[in-house]
Amino acid sequence: MSRRSSILRWALGSALCLASGAAFARYSNADLPPAFQKAPFLKMSLSVGSPIEGFQLRAKRLRATESLALKNAERRTAYGHPSLVLMLQRSAKQMAREASGAVLLVGDLSNENGGPLAGHRSHQSGRDADVGFFVTDAKGRPKRLDHFVAFGADGKAKDGSGLLFDDYRNWLLIQMWLKDSRAGIKYVFVAKPLRQRLLHFASSRPAFKKYAGAAAALLLQPSNSAAHDDHFHVRITCPKGQEKLCVERVAVSD
Ligand SMILES: [Zn+2]
Repeated sequence: MSRRSSILRWALGSALCLASGAAFARYSNADLPPAFQKAPFLKMSLSVGSPIEGFQLRAKRLRATESLALKNAERRTAYGHPSLVLMLQRSAKQMAREASGAVLLVGDLSNENGGPLAGHRSHQSGRDADVGFFVTDAKGRPKRLDHFVAFGADGKAKDGSGLLFDDYRNWLLIQMWLKDSRAGIKYVFVAKPLRQRLLHFASSRPAFKKYAGAAAALLLQPSNSAAHDDHFHVRITCPKGQEKLCVERVAVSD
């Protein structure tokens, strides 16, 4: 049996615990492939399997701060690999510094042990996070939200609220993610019209132009998933040293 299918078999076996009535899957070191049931893995934060069929152990919990709000604070879905959680904290702090008053609105990461997460296909192995767009009111004044709002290609909110997609602050965030080499950001999923909007915004400004090419490679709309017109979905690469436990290649989001 290949390594990948072995990992999937372990993940699936554990996920079946769901049928016993648990609110979410629980995993332990015993669910790791035998080759990983030893030091140093038994004490590490681990991302196991793929984002659509996996789990995590010893995850870090993302908490709200002055510059970071949790959309689903009442759900226990803000657990991720420490690389992801620390990256989000860095982005939030930096956004608050560079765009005064900016607060990063973060939706679901993963369950404490990962596994299937209601409302998502991925988000299973602690490497995914949903991040709300920065928005302004109709007069261009930054506005803070506690929920995600969908936007069209024209930058206007689809809900008729008059809110606008904040090209400048959303681009700043993308640029920060491009420069953040510590977490190793693999993809940022976003709807194609908004991706085009951001790339056009950057290309037409001398200060941002040089990052547009790299942003084009980072920003994706997955063909087999929801449109992502109301949030960015950011995914980090497999953590260093876990390449044999963590499955990288699935480009599916949601
Ligand atoms: Zn997502």
